[in-house]
Amino acid sequence: MSPSFSISYANQCIVITGGNRGIGHAFSEAVAKAGGNIAVIYRSAPDAEKVVEEIGKKYNVKAKAYKCDVSNTALTDETMQKIDKELGPITGLIANAGVSVVKPAFELTQDDFNYVYNVNVFGVFNTARAVAKVWKERGHKGSIVINSSMSSQIINKVNNNSPLTQVFYNSSKAAVSNLTKGLAGEWAQYGIRVNALSPGYVNTDQTAFMDKNIRDFQASQVPMGRFAEPHEMTGLALLLLSEHASYMTGAEYFVDGGQLVY
Ligand code: NDP
Repeated sequence: MSPSFSISYANQCIVITGGNRGIGHAFSEAVAKAGGNIAVIYRSAPDAEKVVEEIGKKYNVKAKAYKCDVSNTALTDETMQKIDKELGPITGLIANAGVSVVKPAFELTQDDFNYVYNVNVFGVFNTARAVAKVWKERGHKGSIVINSSMSSQIINKVNNNSPLTQVFYNSSKAAVSNLTKGLAGEWAQYGIRVNALSPGYVNTDQTAFMDKNIRDFQASQVPMGRFAEPHEMTGLALLLLSEHASYMTGAEYFVDGGQLVY
């Protein structure tokens, strides 16, 4: 008999931070397409509610946007409980929201540090813990996927001689990849799995600042010779969220067109 493999998200509720645009939007669509209800957390985009509503209509699932700064602990806890009541029970989280500051190290400020680390590290911790609290109280199991980056391992370059100036971003991704392992270890006893998905370069607003020279150089560093499209991140996320991944936790998986081994 040939093996069959399909993932349905029917009757599930997945929270996706930053699920209104970029890679997060692709995650939202993929979950909805697989029949899951989606709760999207966004920061300030004026069109977020409309964007999420449209995904819900397109795939005939419940879909709602929640405005919440993931670096605010009280608000994040409150939002997660609200989602659990309105669309839940929550069954999975994709902690995807992330930001970058691209500046030479000599120009970086404490505010830049706080901005990047508050979202990329503390914000991920906040959302993961808020969901884990809900599950722990109910005795439910669940899966958390953290969108880190291949930057957790390498320093990206502008050309052969010069690094891309984003030391806070890169170091924040190293931190959040390590945080993934720590949370996985602590929460395995509650049946909560935590894994990191680490993309290479993806065509989104976050990479739009690169001019053609930088972009061409970056693409030349990727064995597959190109940046990814957001939807190319979704297969692994859906797998990690599902029961097919029931023995997978505390790991970082790279979806980078082979860049890290090049
Ligand atoms: P985008 O810049 O396209 O989108 C960022 C998303 O995060 C938006 O939805 C934004 O909401 C949300 N967000 C930002 N800050 C907050 C906050 N404080 N609270 C709640 N939501 C917030 O990013 P990408 O899609 O490019 O990246 C998504 C993730 O993937 C990030 O973690 C990024 O670091 C990572 N990644 C991206 C790569 C790439 O090449 N693009 C490569 C590797 C990793 P709003 O729209 O309201 O501002």
